[in-house]
Amino acid sequence: MKYIKYINNLIKEKYPVQLEFHQAVKEVTESLEPILKKYNKYEQNAILERLVIPDREIFFRVTWVDDDGKIQVNRGCRIEFNSAIGPYKGGLRFHPSVNPGIIKFLGFEQIFKNALTTLAMGGGKGGSDFDPKGKSDGEVMRFCQAFMNELYRHIGAHTDVPAGDIGVGGREIGYLYGQYRKLTNRFDGVLTGKALNWGGSLVRTEATGYGCVYFAQNMLKEKGEDLEGKICTVSGSGNVAIYTIEKLQQLGAIPVTISDSKGMIYDKNGIDLALLKEIKEVKRLSLEAYAKEKKNAQYTPVSKYKDGINPVWHVPCFAAFPSATQNELNLKDAKALLKNGCKCVSEGANMPSTIDAVHEFINAKICYGPGKAANAGGVAVSGLEMAQNASMTPWTFEYTDKRLYQIMEDIFNNASQTAKEFNAEGNLVVGANIAGFRKVADSMIDQGVL
Ligand code: NDP
Repeated sequence: MKYIKYINNLIKEKYPVQLEFHQAVKEVTESLEPILKKYNKYEQNAILERLVIPDREIFFRVTWVDDDGKIQVNRGCRIEFNSAIGPYKGGLRFHPSVNPGIIKFLGFEQIFKNALTTLAMGGGKGGSDFDPKGKSDGEVMRFCQAFMNELYRHIGAHTDVPAGDIGVGGREIGYLYGQYRKLTNRFDGVLTGKALNWGGSLVRTEATGYGCVYFAQNMLKEKGEDLEGKICTVSGSGNVAIYTIEKLQQLGAIPVTISDSKGMIYDKNGIDLALLKEIKEVKRLSLEAYAKEKKNAQYTPVSKYKDGINPVWHVPCFAAFPSATQNELNLKDAKALLKNGCKCVSEGANMPSTIDAVHEFINAKICYGPGKAANAGGVAVSGLEMAQNASMTPWTFEYTDKRLYQIMEDIFNNASQTAKEFNAEGNLVVGANIAGFRKVADSMIDQGVL
C-alpha cells in the first residue's frame, strides 16, 4: 500500500541509522493495511505521520562520580511518544547498547501495548547507556540521582510515569524515586515498580512473566491444549525470565533453559528457580555460577555459539518464551523451533523475533503471541499501581493477580476477535496491532489536529 511505503521511507530518510525503530514501524504499519484500506480517515488525518514522530524527544547529559573519585559522563533520554489516551508510560533501560533507535522502537511499541491493556496510559520510553553491571550500590545511586536531576522536570503522575526495564529493577527505581521526591518535595506515583513500603503494588515484580504465561495459556486453550507436563524453553535470566519460569512451574510445566549476555544453561531436569533467584536477584552473578552449583546442567558460553544461532531455540520444546532482548530469535532459530515440534511462542521481551522469524511462526499457524500483547502484563500492573497510589489503597496479591489474569485474557480476546474482523483469523500480530492502533488513532481524531 502506497501510504505504508511512504511512511516507512519517511522514517528511513528522517532517522537513517535507527534500524530497530525502522523494524518496529515496518512490523506495525504492514499489519495495519486492512484497517487503513477500509477507513480512509486515518490517512486523511495523517495519523501514521503523527504516530511515528514522537511528541517530544529529550536528550541530556548525566554526570556522576565513581568510587575512585573519577568523573563519569553518560547520555540519558526520555522519549514521550503519544499521550492521546493517558499520561506517557513506559520503562527506563540502562544498558551500554542504548541509543535513540532502540529507545524509539520501544516507545513506539509501547503506544499500542498500553492501549491494549484497556488502561489510560500513553506511550513513552527512556534510558541511558550507563551499565549498572559491576558497579557498586553507591555508584548506581549516584548515577540514578544525576539522571533524575534532569528527568524530574519532564515527568509527573499525570504527565509521564516511567518504570523499569533492562538494567532498571527495584534498586534503581528506589534511588530514582528518592531523588525525585527530594527535588520536588512531592510524594506521588511518579514511578512504578516501587517497593511495597512506599507505594509499590503486589504482583508488579511478577507481572510481565506471569502475564506472558497467562497469554500462552489463553492461546493454547483455544486449541484445546495446556502447559502441564510440557517442556518449555526460556531465554534471559532477569525479571521477565525468572517470573515466567515461576509461573510455568506452578502450572506443572518444565522450563529447561535460561541465558544471559555471557551464555546459556540447559538443565534437562528443570531450572532450579531458588538457585536462579539467588544468583541473579541477590548475588547479581553470571549464569556460569549456576553451572558451578548444578553439575548436571550444561553451560554454553556465547563464544561457543555457532553461525549466529541462539542455542536456546535449538532445544526441543512444546512452548518457547523469549525473555531477554530484541532480535534474539532469527529465521534459523524459528525454523529449528518448528522442526522440533514447538507449538507456542509467547514473547516476554520486546521485539525478540526478527520479522522473517515472525512470518515463519504465522505461516506455520502455531500459537504466536507478539510481545506487545504477550508482555503487556508488566505495564498493566504498573497501571494498577497508579490506581492504588491515586486511591491510597493497596490491593491484595490475590486480587491484583486476578486483575492481571483478566487483563491478559481480555487482550487475547481483543486481538483474536480483531484479527477475525479483518479476515486474518489466528494472526495475533494483525489483531493486536489493529486493536491498539484503532483506540489511539480514533482518540487522536476526536481531539483534533495536534
Ligand atoms: P533484566 O535486566 O531483568 O534482564 C534482562 C536479561 O536479558 C538478562 O538475563 C540479560 O543478561 C539478558 N540480556 C540483555 N541484553 C542481552 C543481550 N544483548 N544478549 C543476551 N542477553 C541479554 O530485564 P527484564 O527481564 O526486565 O527485560 C527483558 C525483556 O523484557 C526486555 O526486552 C524488556 O524490554 C522486556 N520487558 C520487560 C518488562 C518488565 O516489566 N521488566 C515489561 C515488558 C517487556 P545480562 O544480565 O548478562 O545482561
